[in-house]
Amino acid sequence: MAKRILFLFSDTGGGHRAATNAIIEALRLEGEYETTMVDFLRYYSPSPLRYSPEIYPPLSKLKRTWKMGYEAANGARRSRAVNRITYPYLRRSAERLIAENPADIIVSVHPLANAVIPRAMRAHPVPFVTVVTDMVSTHAFWYSRAADLIIVPTLQAKNRGLRLGIPAAQMSVLGQPVSPAFGSLTTPKTELRAEREWPGDTPVVLLAGGGDGMGPVRRVARAINEARLPVHLAVICGRNDDLYKDLSRLKWRIPHDLYGFTSEMPRFMKAADLFVTKAGPGSISEAFICGLPIVLYAVLPGQEEGNVDYVLDAGAGMWAPTPEAVVEAVRLLAEDQAERADMAAHSLKLARPDAARDIARAIVGVLG
Ligand code: UDP
Repeated sequence: MAKRILFLFSDTGGGHRAATNAIIEALRLEGEYETTMVDFLRYYSPSPLRYSPEIYPPLSKLKRTWKMGYEAANGARRSRAVNRITYPYLRRSAERLIAENPADIIVSVHPLANAVIPRAMRAHPVPFVTVVTDMVSTHAFWYSRAADLIIVPTLQAKNRGLRLGIPAAQMSVLGQPVSPAFGSLTTPKTELRAEREWPGDTPVVLLAGGGDGMGPVRRVARAINEARLPVHLAVICGRNDDLYKDLSRLKWRIPHDLYGFTSEMPRFMKAADLFVTKAGPGSISEAFICGLPIVLYAVLPGQEEGNVDYVLDAGAGMWAPTPEAVVEAVRLLAEDQAERADMAAHSLKLARPDAARDIARAIVGVLG
């Protein structure tokens, strides 16, 4: 019988689902495994936690409140205290989750599963692995001594674990899990551009705000349009239908395309010349693999904060926190091909196209 791997994630943003899908895709290359994905916050947590996927987009817009909540438990002692206090309230749902989803190994791809699930598993002990999907400024909730293995994307995330008292041997730095399709796509750029009827001689700027079209995408698109930059603008609105509708009604002055949620991000990114986005770890790591210069226009306080420095320190992109700054950054990179090529090369240096595959192998290793 194929071994069963249970993935715990939640649709708080698009990244946890995308990372889990990437690992499952890579696992298929390793052998026969029965994989199940459970949005444990939505289906196995008490109210109001179960509304997290709905609450997350509006809450994360209230940057000060979000940051306060994020930092409140962001330390070794504070996170342990919160976990102790909240366990009685979460225990029942966690035990029901484990009883209803029998598995040979549990893999958490979400910070909120790592303390409660290992405790609730005591009656059904199986290995527990955490895959950290925030890049640099990782929350203390990611790190539990009860995990058999904690897989982290960067050295910075490992150092954070060390500071929180996790032994080095319990962590592996394997990169951010993104779809193996980003690394394996070999279709030439000219062909990919022709597919979308994008021009061959004008820089194509890809603008996206994560899976939910978050952040000031609307304002950034408008500013680029108003400035009549010499680019072809492709906007991915993700699951944000209002954004799509709004932008469809705009009086456009530059060549552009609007898209809703797409499952073809590798084809979009490999065809583009420049990526304008919020500092989501999934999108950034995918852009590295595609060798795209990155203009970051927004950052979620807390978990995304370190991502900006990570990109800037590597020379892979620019920080442009206002629509006006985005316009200037895009203008510079659209007009200066040498600068664009230099940033693209630095971006590519951070690429870890095999991360999902390495993570899949590590999970199989723990499974035994
Ligand atoms: N994404 C996608 N289709 C879309 C928009 C986004 O597949 O139309 C994917 C994107 O490639 C990335 C993920 O959604 O893998 C977004 O993750 P990220 O960590 O950047 O941001 P989040 O949405 O978690 O805030």
